[in-house]
Amino acid sequence: MSEEYRLDRPTALTCPECGGAMSTEHDGTLLRYRCHIGHVLTAETMLAAQFDVLEAKLAACLVALKERAELCRQMRESASQQGRDTASLDAAHAQALERAEAVKALLQSEWNESGRLYARQTKGFVPVPRP
Ligand SMILES: [Zn+2]
Repeated sequence: MSEEYRLDRPTALTCPECGGAMSTEHDGTLLRYRCHIGHVLTAETMLAAQFDVLEAKLAACLVALKERAELCRQMRESASQQGRDTASLDAAHAQALERAEAVKALLQSEWNESGRLYARQTKGFVPVPRP
């Protein structure tokens, strides 16, 4: 079978650079991941890149929750001026703020960055740009 038609072992992991599906490759003792676009990361680099992706997604979640709280506040203000019941908007506003605090606490808490440290200690650490 030619290299062109090689079937790679699929994995449940996605590429930290493009979000594409990845397959695993073994080159001797080296474990690598390759996405369908062609990004190739060693397992160590993948471990560190996943941490960066996780931080970026949590930050995006925090922004979305704060925006939801602001939208609820504005809608509550409008409803109040029109004499309508604002109880559900009050509850949604409080819930968005409460969950934003939980996500913020996650972002600010200590994380086990062993993947990042491990990658720096080994060859091939390549930082992945934040989305
Ligand atoms: Zn990719």
